[in-house]
Amino acid sequence: MRSDVQRDARHIHCGQRHARVESGMTGLLASRPMLEGQVRRRITALPGVQVLPDSVATGLLVERDRVTVVRLAGGEPMPADLVVDASGRGSRTPFWLDELGIVPPAEERVMLDVRYGTREFRRRPGDLDGDLIVVVAPTPDSPRGGVALAMEDDRWIVTLVG
Ligand SMILES: Cc1cc2nc3c(=O)[nH]c(=O)nc-3n(C[C@H](O)[C@H](O)[C@H](O)COP(=O)(O)OP(=O)(O)OC[C@H]3O[C@@H](n4cnc5c(N)ncnc54)[C@H](O)[C@@H]3O)c2cc1C
Repeated sequence: MRSDVQRDARHIHCGQRHARVESGMTGLLASRPMLEGQVRRRITALPGVQVLPDSVATGLLVERDRVTVVRLAGGEPMPADLVVDASGRGSRTPFWLDELGIVPPAEERVMLDVRYGTREFRRRPGDLDGDLIVVVAPTPDSPRGGVALAMEDDRWIVTLVG
């Protein structure tokens, strides 16, 4: 769904509602499965891109200080000029490098004392007079806030944070 991020929104800051004006800035409102599905569709349409959907990487092989092969569970090892690890926060790369005797790069961690919870609700046509975005910003005096965003298939996604 397309929205004007100011005109279609209720931004509330320090108890005051921001003016509703046409910003000219378009916000795309979509669920994560919708977004990832679109990205996947466009990437797989590129020439030279091949997706191996059921492959699980299980390790790396190194030759002369360079990763040259990715091991796959139950599959042929895959030779590689460049390996990008995008396996998320459960990445095994630090362990694989450790097994190979390679010192992993130093990690920098930023600790944030923030908690949040999210769930979806059905969205009816008259909800919030047709507005698509609600943002209640936390402030130092009131460190709680929330966001409600309309999504495809008549849904709201609502997050409370504090
Ligand atoms: C409950 C929850 C709510 C969240 N809410 C938000 C939010 O509202 N906004 C926000 O910005 N972020 C949110 N996040 C964080 C966000 O999901 C992550 O920051 C983001 O997904 C990280 O993206 P990524 O591509 O690095 O990793 P991921 O999305 O984790 O993708 C990693 C992929 O690698 C695959 N993989 C892993 N290991 C292997 C392997 N050995 N071989 C092959 N494939 C492998 C996995 O199957 C997965 O598909 C949330 C996270 C959680 C858990």
